[in-house]
Amino acid sequence: MIKKIGIAFLIIILVGVVFVYIRTRPSGDINKYKTYFTNDTSAPRDGEIKASFFGVSTLLLDDGKTQLLIDGFFSRPSITSALFTDIHSDTVEIARVLGQFGINRLKGIFVTHSHYDHVFDAGYVSKMTGATLYGSVSTLNVGRGAGVAEDMLKLYQPNTDVTIGEFTIRVVPSKHSPGNALKDDGVAIAEPLPQPASMKVYSEGGSYDFFITHRQKKIFIKPSPNFIVGALDSLKADVLFLGIPTITKQDTAWMEQFYKENVTSLKPALVIPLHWDNFFYPLSDNLVMLPKFTCNAEKDFDYFIGKATQDHIDFKILQGTHSIILK
Ligand SMILES: [Zn+2]
Repeated sequence: MIKKIGIAFLIIILVGVVFVYIRTRPSGDINKYKTYFTNDTSAPRDGEIKASFFGVSTLLLDDGKTQLLIDGFFSRPSITSALFTDIHSDTVEIARVLGQFGINRLKGIFVTHSHYDHVFDAGYVSKMTGATLYGSVSTLNVGRGAGVAEDMLKLYQPNTDVTIGEFTIRVVPSKHSPGNALKDDGVAIAEPLPQPASMKVYSEGGSYDFFITHRQKKIFIKPSPNFIVGALDSLKADVLFLGIPTITKQDTAWMEQFYKENVTSLKPALVIPLHWDNFFYPLSDNLVMLPKFTCNAEKDFDYFIGKATQDHIDFKILQGTHSIILK
């Protein structure tokens, strides 16, 4: 009898391990989309902007004089660390990335929302570079927890233009992913948040998009795949960085409206996807798609590329650490 219970227990464990293994596998192969890959290695010339991707929606914008960072997430703890332990920014990895990619003229860090895969390292990056950290109450409390001085913290003034070098940044109120799956939309981090901390305490604290202009160029950055009806109707962008994972988990009417409210409204000539990579793996130039338990990233790409192609909109993919020069 005890032997039978033992065998049954082992089988349950084995099935569990296989299930977890399958569900944490990438939900598609990013290399199927290699024809869309791009990587400009030269420096930006006068009037150009170099945009570099560091996974999720961490993006560096550089016009050769001024650098801006959208989000700050380089540490990328493993899934077991993130789920089962309190985590701490990997300052050695942050210093490596800052050094290797010449992030030494950084003037501002703008965080889309305060989930850990966006805000986690922002305070440390601010301290290590001297860049001002802009954000919601929650983001600024993450900065305070990392020891950022008060005069380096700036609270968002939504729909107000901030000028940094030749960049003008407008923070636009937005919405996190559909369905409020994490049940924390608008829930603030109300106190300074020191590390180590559980990833679960990084509540959303409000989501924001970024409308960035530089001379005649207009860039819109929207990390979370959602929309507020009519919010972007009066804006136009040349380039749209857009979070597209999970969109095909919604019904067709929602997907069509997502496309209309973002792409049809902004009329970009080029779309570059964000937030498609499995952020439980370290930063590299060989990022893989999000795991199966989150979405079907390949299905999201196929749907979106189909729509963009119909509308003659260019679609390009940046692998981790890769760049595009926006002319
Ligand atoms: Zn989030």
